[in-house]
Amino acid sequence: MTDYLAGLRAQDPAVAELVGEELARQRDSIELIASENFVSLAVMQAVGTPLTNKYAEGLPGKRYYGGCWAVDKVENLAIDRVKQLFGCNFANVQPHSGAQANYAAESAFAKPGDAIMGMDLSNGGHLTHGSPANFSGKLFDVQSYGLDPDTERINYDEVAERAQRCHPAVIIAGASAYPRLIDFERFAKIAHDSGAILMVDMAHIAGIVAVGLHPSPIPFADVVTSTTHKTLRGTRGGIILWNDPAYSRRLNSAVFPGSQGGPLEHVIAGKAVAFAEALRPEFKTYIGQVLINAKALGRGMESRGIRLVTGGTDNHLVLADLTKVADGQVSGKDAEQALERVGITVNKNTIPGERRSPFVTSGIRVGSAAATTRGFGEQDCERIGELIGDVVAHIDDERVLDRAEAEVKELLAPHPLYPELG
Ligand code: PLP
Repeated sequence: MTDYLAGLRAQDPAVAELVGEELARQRDSIELIASENFVSLAVMQAVGTPLTNKYAEGLPGKRYYGGCWAVDKVENLAIDRVKQLFGCNFANVQPHSGAQANYAAESAFAKPGDAIMGMDLSNGGHLTHGSPANFSGKLFDVQSYGLDPDTERINYDEVAERAQRCHPAVIIAGASAYPRLIDFERFAKIAHDSGAILMVDMAHIAGIVAVGLHPSPIPFADVVTSTTHKTLRGTRGGIILWNDPAYSRRLNSAVFPGSQGGPLEHVIAGKAVAFAEALRPEFKTYIGQVLINAKALGRGMESRGIRLVTGGTDNHLVLADLTKVADGQVSGKDAEQALERVGITVNKNTIPGERRSPFVTSGIRVGSAAATTRGFGEQDCERIGELIGDVVAHIDDERVLDRAEAEVKELLAPHPLYPELG
């Protein structure tokens, strides 16, 4: 077996030891954070290459540095593959992260002081969709939309009414914690009827969109942003996609020089590898299993009396409302800690109509993308959902926690993570 870290261990044992610690943590727990996944060894290898040494400000063929012929080919390969994957005309693969992609897309279409409209953070939107703590909330006049309190789903009529009233420059569709399909065609009509640009942030669902198991925003949105590391299962990073050549200059220049310097060509190589993986038929099978597993996680939790926000899921994530658990005494934060103690990693999350602070919350968000990569199937996931229910209902009962911890170890045993890493 190759010792992937041998060189690092020899040169810098302190860092190698910490990498080993994190690898052990990933191996010894069931990863249910909905925004995470496990990349292939090939993706990891592409990121750890001499491409990290190269400055390449600009775009392929139009760089501000010499010696870019090889990285030009890398970046063009990533662009070609991502265009094929999502069926769009143009792509910029340089954003260092989803937040960077969103900054570039928003600033390409809205001036400081203009109104923007996204889903608010407490209802499942992302910080970059208008949170006061983020550039988006500081630069723009934020007119957020929430969810219908009865259905806990997007109320498109209300979004339309608000858009007509506020005339935002940009409407953002997409979320970090929304378990249902999003109607991008409807969003496009709302945006265009009110004179707004439609930006879709498909960070969470990109892998599902790529294989056609969630309707694609590409035919409807003016600009689409995404991360590459969630359901898409690539290295950490961002992308921007669009169809209209009239937008190319402003979007490309909003990335560089607008908000970034030199692109991370080693990361772009990792993105290229992941895009090729997502183009293979096996990736569609994988995503199909992700969707089955998310429903199974939800069923398991429901069987223990946990309410699922919207009653279920159409994608890779489930939002669990803990307000009926143990007479409402268990917060999302308590649940996150108790689950970590037994080897299940989730994150606390606000739920629609949240009464607790975002640091405490009344819910947890649970996703199936990483566990599915690891090889867990439907039955495993239903059982994991039941275990979550047992743990959150008995967070102070050491016997329950010990039993759950032992079962987590049993569930993990047949699914080794990165066995090639020794
Ligand atoms: N957009 C959405 C919908 C997200 O959920 C996230 C991160 O979770 C981002 C953007 C930001 O991505 P990054 O952490 O790469 O900046």
